[in-house]
Amino acid sequence: MIHRILRGTALSLACAAVAVAAHTNDHGLDAKNMDPSAGACRDFFQYADGGWLKSNPIPPAYSRWSLDDEINERNLGILRNILENAAAHPGALGETSQKIGDFYAAAMDEVGIEKAGTAPLKDDLAAIAALKSPADVATLVRDWQRLGNQVLFDFEAQPDLKDSNKDIAYAGQGGLGLPDRDYYTRDDAKSMDLRTKYQAHIARMLGLIGDRNAGDEATWVLALETRLAQASLDRVALRDPANSYHIYTVADADAATPHFSWSGFFHHAGRDDVQSFSLAHPTFFVAADRALAEVPLAHWQAYLRWRLIDAQAPYLNKALVDADFDFHARTLRGAKEIKPRWKRAIGSADAALGELLGQAYVAQVFPPEAKQRALELVNNLKIALRARIARLDWMSAETKQSAYAKLDTLVAKIGYPDKWRDYSTLKIARVSYLDNMRAAAAFDAQRQIAKLDRPVDRSEWDMTPQTVNAYYNPMGNEVVFPAAQLLPPYFDAKADDALNYGGIGSVIGHEMTHGFDDEGSQFDARGNLADWWSKRDRTEFEARTAKLVEQFNSYVPVDDLHINGKLTLGENIADFGGLLVAYDAFKLTAQGKGDTKIEGLTPDQRFFLSYAQTWRTAQRPEQLRLQVQSNEHAPAKFRTNGPLSDIPAFAHAFNCKAGDPMVQPPAKIVDIW
Ligand SMILES: [Zn+2]
Repeated sequence: MIHRILRGTALSLACAAVAVAAHTNDHGLDAKNMDPSAGACRDFFQYADGGWLKSNPIPPAYSRWSLDDEINERNLGILRNILENAAAHPGALGETSQKIGDFYAAAMDEVGIEKAGTAPLKDDLAAIAALKSPADVATLVRDWQRLGNQVLFDFEAQPDLKDSNKDIAYAGQGGLGLPDRDYYTRDDAKSMDLRTKYQAHIARMLGLIGDRNAGDEATWVLALETRLAQASLDRVALRDPANSYHIYTVADADAATPHFSWSGFFHHAGRDDVQSFSLAHPTFFVAADRALAEVPLAHWQAYLRWRLIDAQAPYLNKALVDADFDFHARTLRGAKEIKPRWKRAIGSADAALGELLGQAYVAQVFPPEAKQRALELVNNLKIALRARIARLDWMSAETKQSAYAKLDTLVAKIGYPDKWRDYSTLKIARVSYLDNMRAAAAFDAQRQIAKLDRPVDRSEWDMTPQTVNAYYNPMGNEVVFPAAQLLPPYFDAKADDALNYGGIGSVIGHEMTHGFDDEGSQFDARGNLADWWSKRDRTEFEARTAKLVEQFNSYVPVDDLHINGKLTLGENIADFGGLLVAYDAFKLTAQGKGDTKIEGLTPDQRFFLSYAQTWRTAQRPEQLRLQVQSNEHAPAKFRTNGPLSDIPAFAHAFNCKAGDPMVQPPAKIVDIW
């Protein structure tokens, strides 16, 4: 629920013709997913996934359809069962079933929600109407922040970048309704058209809660958000952690923003003891503070109503839910119809009570022995990465020692947390969906506030076990793999090594390599922002990553939009390194050393096909535009073809020749980890 100011780096949001035997087994590669006519050396993504793409049109309620979505769909069935059982027998498992059961029942009570209409917003709307001055606006923002309603800026506890054992407060830029600051500043026709639609959407939503002057108000809101956007850093700048680390004493922060009192903020949060924190993006806060002084009160009131309704519409009546879907899912992402209520309710339960739901989930899908097998894979990958570092000819022996130290202290978290989150102070009732979401947001805000200036709890997870994803956390030097990412076909105990190393092996290698990407490499073995590189080695590293930036800058996934090579650099380094580390680890297995064909495919062909098939993804053009303009991950096709075209073992496996599209010219070949 908390928007991350300092983010860990997540996995996703992913020639000679080769005869493939028509027969497939349940634990093998599915030949039907392929499109051999595409040519492995021309477009490997299409070659490996073309059959799947053809027979898997994107379902109307989705803006993207991929392997991860297929796994997630399976998960939804499991989670629905858990939640329906808990709702029917709320006392069966004590506190857990009461909370998740009552939460789900309230979320599914369509009749009750419809009957309540916008009444659940009454108190907040009255508080906005009662504001008399800019000082009152600042006070309301302060009080909402304490309740987890993150208006105007983002707030969270994260490790001190210079002392990763201690959490401190970070207040960061925020307050926007569009996906990124650039949406407010670009002046091409498509961007301007989108802003017109956004303004119409704001007016429609404000009209739905009874504003009579919604048209003017929408103009004011867009102007205010544009003002905030212009003072915000862009996403490339945000990837440099130093740009979010500006330590202020509370008194100095008060002086920097005379119209917003940080001492008052910490006082009302019950943390008078906090002496200093990161006012992460000072330029933004100076501009927001000036807006508090200069923007008319009526404009602020419209803005606050808009931020309130934009955040809470999904938990209210049908008119608001539909209008919210219309802009955020249809216009921005290209979805054709809304997901059924039960799927949306599960998403909310995951956000509000994720680790309670997770306990029931892992009991069903993730046996303890799976944890052990995944840990063995991680250790094999670590050995392979260490050997690769040892072989690097561009890195000095001294810097290598620091790299080994970082690899040796890397922590792997597998499946689910050793210590589950304690939800005992969170009250959930079968009365109001919105009230439950608010209670969860307030609970989360309290958790953040309680952490400030205290030792970091290393047992915590940033993803729930039922999430099909993984991440690297540079401040903890840890790789984290939720149970849902460790299921077939990523990881199948009955499949051959080629498939597992090409699947989950590449995922594990990806997360490990994040420790050594352009961002992660700025953190040392203890998770502190500290330079462990010699100057010469750093220059050499940057020359190599610059080639990868150039390679991805040249790709055009949709319309005339190029991938942003700098924005996606960390992910691309991780994909590329992850594949190589997984390949090396695979070559240490008996299958990797041999040449026995399975289903007509050599071990290496199976490895690379497995990698490409985990990336099978179809996306609507709207979703592609959104991703290319605002996400650190390149679209799946380029995460497949990009790194593979730099890898000689891939060309060798499929007999690709110089000049083939899947083979980079020698001068452009990227070689980093
Ligand atoms: Zn990643």
